[in-house]
Amino acid sequence: MTEVLVEVEDLKVYFPVRDGWSTKDDRQVKAVDGISLALRHAEVLAVVGESGCGKTTLGRTVAGLASPTSGRVWFRGKDLATLSSGERKTYRRQVQMVFQDPYDSMNPRKTAFQMIAQPLTINRIVPKTDLVNEVLRLFDNVGLAPGEAYLNRSRHQLSGGERQRLSIARSMSVNPSVIVADEPVSALDISIQGQILSLMRKLQEESSIAYLFISHDLAVVRSLADRVMIVYLGQIVEEGTTDGVFSNPRHPYTMALLAAHPIPDPELSRNRHRIVLTGDVPSPIDPPTGCRFHTRCPIARPVCSQQIPPFKDFRNGHRSACHFADQLQSMARLLNESGPASH
Ligand code: SF4
Repeated sequence: MTEVLVEVEDLKVYFPVRDGWSTKDDRQVKAVDGISLALRHAEVLAVVGESGCGKTTLGRTVAGLASPTSGRVWFRGKDLATLSSGERKTYRRQVQMVFQDPYDSMNPRKTAFQMIAQPLTINRIVPKTDLVNEVLRLFDNVGLAPGEAYLNRSRHQLSGGERQRLSIARSMSVNPSVIVADEPVSALDISIQGQILSLMRKLQEESSIAYLFISHDLAVVRSLADRVMIVYLGQIVEEGTTDGVFSNPRHPYTMALLAAHPIPDPELSRNRHRIVLTGDVPSPIDPPTGCRFHTRCPIARPVCSQQIPPFKDFRNGHRSACHFADQLQSMARLLNESGPASH
């Protein structure tokens, strides 16, 4: 069995509702509300959901940039809450984060060389005499070529794609075992997106890094991920292998996401019934009772607002939290033929 690098158990991350600097009331934003996952060596696990579903908070917590309200995060079997300062430093090095737009995370006064040389020096990866060569090697590895032309550029002298390459080089400089990538290509032109995805795939294959890949883009996820977790209002509603979830979705929310962002693949389109997503995501301050998706689910029944659906297990780790996971295709077909059911 492949080594589990990061394990998350019943993670909850809540934030107080604030009005300016003062706490407005006792309510809390339940950004992540009971998520468990295991990320294995060299695996790409995608976290998919609409904006505001909690996926960024989950990624930031795994990367050590946000603190759990409750629940546990383990790295290589060690509970993060019990790490010594030395172990925490190792964890921070081993789990790197790549952001949607790295512009804000780059110091405007530093050159590209300094941005990469700093982590190499702090972590004593190479002796000072080898710094330039190592930075040039990393530039070459991420396609910033010729490297000499980039050494003295600052962030505003780089294109969006070049900044993302530099950001990936910075993450790779410390030889991480996990990269949390938060919408790493969504701010880029479509032609550049493909290049960055190819780069990420190449680096993952060469270095056996595990990615926790956060995205709302199903086509991107399909091309890169081994497994997928679909998240709605801070909770997992479906998870499984990418092939399993995309070819045979077992949750109406997944079906709706797939219908909203069709992927040009006849295999996936066959026998697919459409579920159309309507309305906005409810507030994570006061999520709906029962199944959280019931206020938007076109096939919801009375039980859906009353009882939390348990996970049902299918093949190969595919599971879904829907009362009607076994009957979805026929319910969706009826829906397509006759219009939405009344709640
Ligand atoms: Fe829809 Fe009910 Fe399934 Fe929730 S449990 S996804 S409301 S059918």
